Formats: sequence, C-alpha cells, structure tokens
Amino acid sequence: MGSGDSVCLDVKVIGAGIAGLACALALQRKGHTVTIYEKGPELYEDGAGLQLCPNATRIIHQWGLQDDFVKVVNQPKVMTVRRYSDNDTIGEIPHNPMSEWEYGYPHWQIYRPDLQNLLAAAASKAGVVTMFGHAVLSIDAEKGSMSLDDETELTSDLIVAADGIGSRARSAISPVTAKSYNESCFRAVVPKAKMLQDPETARLMAGDLSMVWVGPGAAVLGYALAGGELYNILLSIPRSSDTEVGRWNQPADLAEVQSHLTDFCTPVKKVWGLVDSCAKWELGDVPKIDSYVSRSGKFVLAGDSAHAIVPHAGQGGAMALEDAAALAEFLDPSTFSGPAELPGRMQAYHDFRQPRVEHIRRMAYGNAKTFTLPNGPEQQQRDKMWAGMTAKWKAAYEQMGEDAFKTRVVADPHAADIRSPKGRAYVQGYDTAAEARKAVASIAL
Ligand SMILES: Cc1cc2nc3c(=O)[nH]c(=O)nc-3n(C[C@H](O)[C@H](O)[C@H](O)COP(=O)(O)OP(=O)(O)OC[C@H]3O[C@@H](n4cnc5c(N)ncnc54)[C@H](O)[C@@H]3O)c2cc1C
Repeated sequence: MGSGDSVCLDVKVIGAGIAGLACALALQRKGHTVTIYEKGPELYEDGAGLQLCPNATRIIHQWGLQDDFVKVVNQPKVMTVRRYSDNDTIGEIPHNPMSEWEYGYPHWQIYRPDLQNLLAAAASKAGVVTMFGHAVLSIDAEKGSMSLDDETELTSDLIVAADGIGSRARSAISPVTAKSYNESCFRAVVPKAKMLQDPETARLMAGDLSMVWVGPGAAVLGYALAGGELYNILLSIPRSSDTEVGRWNQPADLAEVQSHLTDFCTPVKKVWGLVDSCAKWELGDVPKIDSYVSRSGKFVLAGDSAHAIVPHAGQGGAMALEDAAALAEFLDPSTFSGPAELPGRMQAYHDFRQPRVEHIRRMAYGNAKTFTLPNGPEQQQRDKMWAGMTAKWKAAYEQMGEDAFKTRVVADPHAADIRSPKGRAYVQGYDTAAEARKAVASIAL
C-alpha cells in the first residue's frame, strides 16, 4: 500500500544489483521504507573486478561505509600501460594517493561480490528488506503497481526499477532495448595460491599494481582483488558479436582466449594459463531513452536499466551509485513534502541525471578503441601521448610534490576527451549529492 500524504514513501525496488542495493540504501537512509524484489534466490554475484573511481568512492564515504570497504579493496598506485609483446612500460596513469589529492577521494579496485555484499549488509542494517526469489513480471508505471511471478499485486508510492541492461521493467515507459557493441570481453579470477606458484605471476599480486597490456586487436587488464586473495584478468577483443543481444556473462571457451594471446608476453600467457573457467561478455549498451521516469512520477529507472554504457570509462557501476545518491537528494524529507510532489521531483531527477550519463557514455565510446589499436602510426601516436602524459605528471610531482595534483582544474562537462584534466575533473571530481542538492534548491525557488 502507498503511504498517502506521508513524507516518507513506501518504495519498492526491482533488482538487488549495484543500482538496486544502492538506491535502497540511499532512500532508506533518508527515512523511506524500502523493499527490494530480486528474482534470484540470492545476490547475483557473477562478474569479476570493478574499478571504482573517486566519484564513486566519494559516495561510499558519504554513506560512512569506507572502513568496511578498505578491508577488501585494492588501491593501486598507478595503472601501468604495457606493450603486449615485450611487457615494456608505455605509460602510467596515476591513481593513489594522487586521486585523493586531486579529487578528494581514492581510486579502488573491488571484487563485485564484495561490493554487492557490503551494500547489501549496509542496506539491511539500515532497515531495507530484500525478498529473494521474486521476479517482477509486469508494471503499471502510472499507477505505481507491479505484479510478481507468484501473482501477487503490489502498489507503492514509488517503484525504482534496477533490473539491469536487459531490463524488462524499462518497457513500462520506453520501447528502447539494449543493443550489442562490437566488442567481447573474457573475464576470470585466479586464486592467490595459484598466482604465487610462479615468481612471474606472484609479482603481479602486489596490491598496488594494476596493469593493462595493449596490443593490436586485443588488450588484457589485470589486478589483484579481494584484499589480495584473487587476481582479476580480462581480455578484450573488438569484433562483431556472434551472440544475440541480451546474452551476457556466458561460459566461455578458454581455447578461444588462448587463440588471441599468441603474441602476448609471458606474464599474460602465464596468468591466463592458470584460469580454470571464464565468462564471455558480449558488450552492449542501452541507447538514450526519452525519460527515466513515468509521467505520474511513481516509476523510475536506475542503473543499467536506465542507461547501460560500454565499460571503457569504468563508470557503469559508478553511474548506478550516482543515481542512488541523486535520487535520495530529490526525495530528501527536508525539502520533499510527499507523494503529490513526485511527478515534478522525478522529472527533475531525470533532467539532472541524463546529461551527465550521456556525457560519460560519449567518453566511454571515445576510449573504446584506444587500447586495441593495430600497430602503426595511430598506435605510435597513442603511445607517445601516454609516455608524454606520464613524464609530465611525474616531473610535476617531483618538482611540487602533492601540490602538483592540488591545482584543482575547473571541471568541464563539455570536455570531449576523458583524459584531459578538465574532462577527468568532471567525471572523477563530481560530488553527486552536492550537485543534486543544488538542483533541488533551484526547483524549490
Ligand atoms: C566487462 C565489464 C566491465 C565493467 N567494468 C566496470 C568498472 O570497472 N567500473 C564500473 O563502475 N562499472 C563497470 N562495469 C559496469 C557495471 O558492471 C554495471 O554498470 C553494473 O553492474 C550495473 O548494475 P545494475 O544494478 O544496474 O544491474 P545488474 O548488476 O545487472 O543487476 C540487476 C539485478 O536485477 C535482477 N533482476 C532482473 N530482472 C528482474 C526481475 N524481473 N525481477 C526481479 N529482479 C530482477 C537481476 O537478477 C540482478 O540482480 C562493467 C561492465 C562490464 C560488462
């Protein structure tokens, strides 16, 4: 049942992924009553490692969860870009503690199950109830009602649909479906004990190391996870998808992986040689939709269901966390007077979130081909750019120390290049909650 004129809403969330858990936690923290309906029998925890950039780790800190997270995250000093064939370093992208100096918060690498378990524990502690084994089958977005697979009909003040890239709930307000992207990823994790068996793979387990080996038509990303218990390895190959749209995270053939590694250096081959099984992700995204919300304001999309983007900016999960942080501000009882205000508030939430997500989508597309360029002039120019960028930040650091990173450049939401200082500042230095509060204040005027 809806809660009438109460400022505290009865909220139903569909899906207990990163977006659903984060939205539930953020809204319950504001005093709303939240129940999650998750179709799986337990948390769906497939997937390997995720990068959490400072715009995302800021939110974790704002929710007071950092002490639990630091026990399981890895905090790389830099991401080292290496040549695929000879393992030579091409460049280094600064992470920790430089991210904190520059953007106020660290850069983390986290095992997806750890992220989901920590969000789930925090949500449960805050009072969120999660109903596992309940698939939502249909939704009336104008009424704010939904039906479950056991034929239960539920009505609430607000439905937050966070059912992922293949969202069924999205069809309640938009005909847009996910489309595949011409790139595949193979993802796996290797236990620490196996990695330590060989000095060459053991060296990679240092928690502050993060690597990307770039080659023609293939790139490999590797870093330690789960407080050093696992090594995350990902192979990305740009090629036409041979899988129907909507099939992600499928069991993969390791022989297919090996066939792309013939010219790679020994450490890469050795790590992949330790992999027992891996998953193949045919990448995809959800094209821009007209609105994340229904006219009634009783239904809103969050996370990948609203706006899945390709992973090349490491920002999909971050966007889910940002959606949650923003939604909570638009429904903060200190400025929100109850259900009658939902249509305006949810429209404002959409207007606030979509331009940023679309900007980051463009940046992710821009980044997409960079790591897998064929050998030749474009690749040489890229390597020169990375080497030059690395020399520049290292020289500045040597001359000025920490201050080299504290020259707070002005964030530019229109920067086309994610690697430009202004572009990075907009993506990584963003304070979603503070910006959302400003947006709320402007509608309240
Ligand atoms: C290869 C790859 C690498 C990535 N790397 C990064 C990275 O480094 N950093 C980053 O920030 N992001 C990254 N991402 C993106 C990130 O993984 C996603 O953006 C994020 O997982 C989306 O979370 P979500 O909660 O919206 O969706 P999901 O995680 O898909 O969760 C949806 C949930 O809804 C449930 N559900 C579905 N339908 C129903 C239903 N009908 N009823 C009830 N429940 C339902 C599902 O069971 C699931 O639990 C990467 C993605 C890929 C593919």
